[in-house]
Amino acid sequence: MASHRGEAKLIAGGQSLMPMLNFRLLDPALLVDISRLPDLAQITASGRGITVGAGVCHHALMRSPELAERLPIINHTMQYVAHMAIRNRGTIGGSLAHGDPAAELPLLAVLLDADIHITGPAGDRTARAEDFFLAPLTTDLSEDEILTAVTFPNLAAGSGWGFEEIARRTGDFALAGAGAVLTLHHGVIADVRLAMMGVDETPRRLPAIEAMLLGRAWDAGVRASAVRQVREQVNPMSDLQASADYRRHLAGVVAGRALDTAWAKGHMP
Ligand SMILES: Cc1cc2nc3c(=O)[nH]c(=O)nc-3n(C[C@H](O)[C@H](O)[C@H](O)COP(=O)(O)OP(=O)(O)OC[C@H]3O[C@@H](n4cnc5c(N)ncnc54)[C@H](O)[C@@H]3O)c2cc1C
Repeated sequence: MASHRGEAKLIAGGQSLMPMLNFRLLDPALLVDISRLPDLAQITASGRGITVGAGVCHHALMRSPELAERLPIINHTMQYVAHMAIRNRGTIGGSLAHGDPAAELPLLAVLLDADIHITGPAGDRTARAEDFFLAPLTTDLSEDEILTAVTFPNLAAGSGWGFEEIARRTGDFALAGAGAVLTLHHGVIADVRLAMMGVDETPRRLPAIEAMLLGRAWDAGVRASAVRQVREQVNPMSDLQASADYRRHLAGVVAGRALDTAWAKGHMP
């Protein structure tokens, strides 16, 4: 990669790269196939969390018993990624490196405060997911670096979680999506994370709304206020699929529903 800097591309599942090659949006001189590197295909549980190798495909994430035990929001959310054939080939590393603002794995990485492990000629480094996505299809990776793994920290005991998205057809990229994780203490929200996708240049958390929810019970008044604030704080774009106004409306819908589910699950023993 270093010797062909600027002219080489990694190929993993090929589910985003091949369409871009077909449309002549990219024309690399060299493709480096990393799809059969066994070291990239591991899912490892440790005390801190779960580390997923960059080459793990979406279908394996959906079926992973390690994730089901500790981070079931990931298993659950993968059903929304494309279709079975694509989930069998597409990888977590490819999805994060591609950096589509409406993709589910970048949203999960931001929501769950993941660490992204990167290797290149200058050595190894770790980026926080929050800092990794810079603009649509643009990340913190340089041309000679490879994303090797992602570490998702464990959720706090008793956490509730929810993920919601709205797409025009099953398997399409979402028009808007939201993920929420919260913990409760004495019937009020003690900790909360809310992240959105498809309604900004990158997936991102909404810290002002998170702060507003702390110490509150999720009742109708708080819900209405959160939904209104979500619509004020996102910056969607108009495209062939939907207008910015419609996406803004949907952002409130999915955020409200994701928090409904997280609140309900947070009550469970
Ligand atoms: C019809 C269709 C529908 C889809 N719908 C969805 C959807 O709803 N939600 C969604 O999230 N995705 C969707 N996708 C995209 C799919 O999830 C891709 O698999 C994923 O985005 C890219 O993973 P990949 O392994 O195929 O990467 P590739 O296509 O092989 O690579 C993508 C990019 O990442 C780079 N790359 C790959 N691996 C690494 C690595 N380890 N380190 C550094 N760079 C790397 C490549 O050089 C390339 O630039 C869809 C795709 C299709 C074709």
